[in-house]
Amino acid sequence: MSRNSSLPPSDYRGRLAPSPTGYLHIGHARTFWTACQRAIAAAGTLVMRMEDLDPDRSRAEYADAALNDLRWLGIHWQEGPDLSSPDLSSPDHGGPYAPYEQSRRMAFYLDAWSKLQKGGFLFPCRCSRKDLEAALNAPHESISPGTVEAQGHNEPGNGEQEPLDDEPIYPGTCRRSENNFPLSPNSPACNIAEPGCFNWRFRVPAGEVIEFVDLNLGPQRFVAGTDFGDFVVWRRDGVPSYQLACVADDAAMRITEVVRGEDLLKSTARQILLYRALSLTPPAWFHCRLVADSSGRRLAKRHDALSLRALRLRGFTPEQILSGALPMET
Ligand SMILES: [Zn+2]
Repeated sequence: MSRNSSLPPSDYRGRLAPSPTGYLHIGHARTFWTACQRAIAAAGTLVMRMEDLDPDRSRAEYADAALNDLRWLGIHWQEGPDLSSPDLSSPDHGGPYAPYEQSRRMAFYLDAWSKLQKGGFLFPCRCSRKDLEAALNAPHESISPGTVEAQGHNEPGNGEQEPLDDEPIYPGTCRRSENNFPLSPNSPACNIAEPGCFNWRFRVPAGEVIEFVDLNLGPQRFVAGTDFGDFVVWRRDGVPSYQLACVADDAAMRITEVVRGEDLLKSTARQILLYRALSLTPPAWFHCRLVADSSGRRLAKRHDALSLRALRLRGFTPEQILSGALPMET
């Protein structure tokens, strides 16, 4: 899709934020398509940002596949990862807010972490997965802060997001004992002045109502401490959380509207708190309804038969994929 040249350029800046942890599926395609159409309608700029922070799950081949499959669908962007394309009319030559790969943007996240830490918004958390399970008495739920946050990198959501948005409420163990927190539990390298060794959690204002108007789904209301608890902003393995990286990047890249799956509504409430703590202006929000399979389950990257890759190979056209006319068997 090329921009409508009859419209004047606008300040609208949207983004596509795939996570290269698997092949994109039909749900991603439709959310990205919506993002693309809204940018075109606004005569705005669309940014491609590769959310490849998780070193264990991100793979270059999936990043390549995402860019390739989205282009095949007819989705184009004006700024994106620099693939050293000699063609300067190509979106693959970067842009004014480069780099567009999260794995190359650690300085932005450290800066945000530092501001939050100095502002008193964070506390270090040493709870292990076992500790949390015991405290929550909910052994059936996956609550490892590391893996929970890692699964947040699948935006725009359409599956695989439930562990992120439905992350159990943090029981407050380390928040309460903060004054007695041992700063160097295992290693002399542990330092309260930089992230590492601990999970760092955002101290949510318990009881505060977070409200926003979603441009697609209407008024939204969440209660901090009830709908979500103190959430991780930096993992002990050195990786910033989805929430922190997303806010830092959307602000730095001057994104004016975020289009993503409705499974991230609760994350939007969390991120609004981060925007406020960082004295940043949040973008507008447009959350898309999710695509379900024939049994009503949300699609996830494990639905290999519905990956864009597989559908292409089976001969489906972009029009069929985007029209919703496909059978949803898995
Ligand atoms: Zn803790």
